[in-house]
Amino acid sequence: MTVPSQRFDRQIRFAPLGQEGQLRLEQSRVLLVGCGALGGILAQSLARAGVGELVLVDRDIVEESNLPRQVLFEDVHAREGTLKVTAARESLARIGGPTRLEAHAQHLDADTIEELAEGCDLLLDGTDNLGTRYLINDYSVCNDVPWIYGGVVGSGGLVLPVVPSRGPCLRCVFDSPPPSGTLETCDTAGVILPAVGAVASLQAGLALRLLTEPCQTEPPLRPALLEIDVWSGSLRRLELGPQEGCHCCGERDFTWLEEPLGRRATILCGRNAVQVRGVGESPDLDRLAEQLKPLSSSLKRAGPILRCEIDGHVLTIFQDGRALIEGTDEVERAIALYDRYVGS
Ligand SMILES: [Zn+2]
Repeated sequence: MTVPSQRFDRQIRFAPLGQEGQLRLEQSRVLLVGCGALGGILAQSLARAGVGELVLVDRDIVEESNLPRQVLFEDVHAREGTLKVTAARESLARIGGPTRLEAHAQHLDADTIEELAEGCDLLLDGTDNLGTRYLINDYSVCNDVPWIYGGVVGSGGLVLPVVPSRGPCLRCVFDSPPPSGTLETCDTAGVILPAVGAVASLQAGLALRLLTEPCQTEPPLRPALLEIDVWSGSLRRLELGPQEGCHCCGERDFTWLEEPLGRRATILCGRNAVQVRGVGESPDLDRLAEQLKPLSSSLKRAGPILRCEIDGHVLTIFQDGRALIEGTDEVERAIALYDRYVGS
């Protein structure tokens, strides 16, 4: 495998990376969960750096309110309700370079993570979903694959690189997610692009370092919790060790990987929406459209997506059987609507 010398010249000149590091990047496979705000910048950073394989996972579609901070998307994607992974792959492909892109319009959960993360050297968090982060953390510790947490809200956020057996895992720092509604989210407190950029760039920098670590001469990275704010211009670094008795990395209790509860439905924090997965085979969208037509005057079919309004809820049904139920944050209600209109 060779590295095009001109394309990557400037980063190869950066001594801690060097030619060997560049080759290492080109042999790396990275799973990126979420292609929105953090995910867009992460994807772009890694693709431009020449990472070998980028596995993109996102279940969502592009909306107009994404455009001020989700750098891979354009007006046309929002107008057409394009899947985020599809739009992201298009934008990344235009950058060119050696990176092979895999796009999965899927929900990452306990059933799908094994397959999606298979063979990956690093997992990157570009989500805004706490449950997904705990799942990634369980997978990371269980399989000894590093991951990098990133969270952003308002003008700042947190970054935590998790390198199993070398530092704390997510559950060492936050043992369990706080009850819903207690944390500020981007939907309640807003968010600005520079904050997203700062958090994602910290993640991306640490990603390049972790991926090329085996060929570096300097000591291995010492994981720390990083807190950054672009409004006050502050950066805090909190050195933490693994917590004795941590449920995940201490007792190796992988609740989020093993717990079947909640697999079927995910509350989308702050969006008054629930994502529900079918338990049977994927639906036939043509047939479903015919069935739902008499019930909804707003029914719209756009390629692999069916969208309609029923009972005051907007249902977006995807070809793989997932549906986004907007207008409720109750799992039971969302599953009931799914089962009634999409079929269980
Ligand atoms: Zn831990």
